Amino acid sequence: VTENKTLVVIFGGSGDLAHRKLYPALFQLYLKGSLNKHFAVIGTARRPWTHEFFREGVIENLSDGTLEQRQAFAEHFYYQSHDVQDSEHYVALKNVIDKLDDKYQIGGNRLFYMAMAPSLFGTIAEHLRSEHLLSHDGYNRLIIEKPFGHDYESALALNNAIVNTFDEDQVFRIDHYLGKEMVQNIPCIRFANPFLNAVWNRDYIDNIQITLAESLGVEERGGYYETSGALRDMVQNHIMQIVAMLAFPRPEKYDDRAINQAKSQVFASLPVYTPEQVQAKFVRGQYGEDASGKQAAYRNEDKIDANSTVETFVAGEIDLDMPQWQGVPFYVRTGKRLPAKKTRIDVVFKADQSELFTEQPASPVLTIEVEPDLGIELTLNGKEIGTSSLIKVDQLQYLLNEDQQKQVPDAYERLLLEAMLGKQGNFAQWEGMTGSWHFVDAIRKAWSQEKDIDFPNYQSGTMGPKAADELLSKTGRHWIYQG
Ligand code: NAD
Repeated sequence: VTENKTLVVIFGGSGDLAHRKLYPALFQLYLKGSLNKHFAVIGTARRPWTHEFFREGVIENLSDGTLEQRQAFAEHFYYQSHDVQDSEHYVALKNVIDKLDDKYQIGGNRLFYMAMAPSLFGTIAEHLRSEHLLSHDGYNRLIIEKPFGHDYESALALNNAIVNTFDEDQVFRIDHYLGKEMVQNIPCIRFANPFLNAVWNRDYIDNIQITLAESLGVEERGGYYETSGALRDMVQNHIMQIVAMLAFPRPEKYDDRAINQAKSQVFASLPVYTPEQVQAKFVRGQYGEDASGKQAAYRNEDKIDANSTVETFVAGEIDLDMPQWQGVPFYVRTGKRLPAKKTRIDVVFKADQSELFTEQPASPVLTIEVEPDLGIELTLNGKEIGTSSLIKVDQLQYLLNEDQQKQVPDAYERLLLEAMLGKQGNFAQWEGMTGSWHFVDAIRKAWSQEKDIDFPNYQSGTMGPKAADELLSKTGRHWIYQG
């Protein structure tokens, strides 16, 4: 393992994301040697904290390793009280950065991580430039978090606020689904197996289904969720990235640039639905209480409007305007308070239509289990054991065992490392974001014109509203994953 020399500046270093995700991820990189001697982390936020207090908080969130390792790791952490609106504070921050760069001989490599509200990204980016916090020796990279806008216009404004300081190849927009093992596995499954690559098109695939099910409700995120809803929170970003991973044309080369170019073709081919099409192709839902009445309805949750029409469930059909996918619906579905947490992809192949067999064979299905299981399943037709020639369905299953699962790096660990290496293949690109926002905005707009929204329309602990099943059953299809 080669050591990465880097100085990470985290804006929002006292926050939840930093403590729960970023510090443990950096620690994993440290334990594995990707970070060793030549690195430092500066946490900034408004409160006046000492370095010691900051380090204690970092250590508290670490598991694994020995106490000595955790302490040695935390020695590289520094706290700088910083109000992002105050220009003077950037001068002070610059001094700390220069000192630490010197002390740890980092060579000018800088990662600026924005772990705070997106409304502050522009101010920070602006000041990084005007107050000369960018180095001239190494790299300067910006890592930003979702939500990246709440519609196309606001996403564009956000992007414009950072492009004065950072070029597109310096911007790393985190979509943590792109950091998941089985999502990163998709190109391998598709292109490293010629027999799959050969049938990965409209001639052999009937439809593709993507399910991102959560069992939790809105929990403490009510304030944010009321401004977002499932469409913006899950479909615009995570689901669209998975659609792109499944649909992009085979690239000439297997490198980041080629993959991102291939993916951008998918984003560019997303439809912009008319209100009538939205009505026919998209379903929204909001959870009510569960059967026992123990779990509250969305409208009764903390910080939620008693008449809220925000959706906690979305199911829909995406028709890509690409020759190889003409007539192949990509069915997507996500929701809160579904029976279990589950992310999976079902690629449903066409069934044999000949009359070779007395009964109709089933549709073969390739399932990619993303979480909590990781692996692949293939559902095939075979013959019943014995003298009859009846068909039965067989399933080949490969799931990672517990030991293998332990070797799987967390998404943030992987993505932070990729950002240090300058690998942009698993980050959201602005071009793609344009397409996915236009797609989502058209649905939002159609929904905003609908009256009489009959929420709640699904019980907590079920797979969502009936209309989500009818979306498929009206064409004789069904959801492969039934919850
Ligand atoms: P948080 O409220 O816990 O932390 C926000 C941080 O910003 C704090 O450190 C706070 O002190 C700092 N801050 C706020 N205003 C400031 C100012 N004017 N000057 C200096 N510091 C200021 O939020 P979070 O949950 O850590 O989320 C941060 C961002 O990441 C948000 O945009 C959120 O949507 C996104 N995000 C969070 C998670 C998560 O798991 N928490 C997941 C995905 C995306």
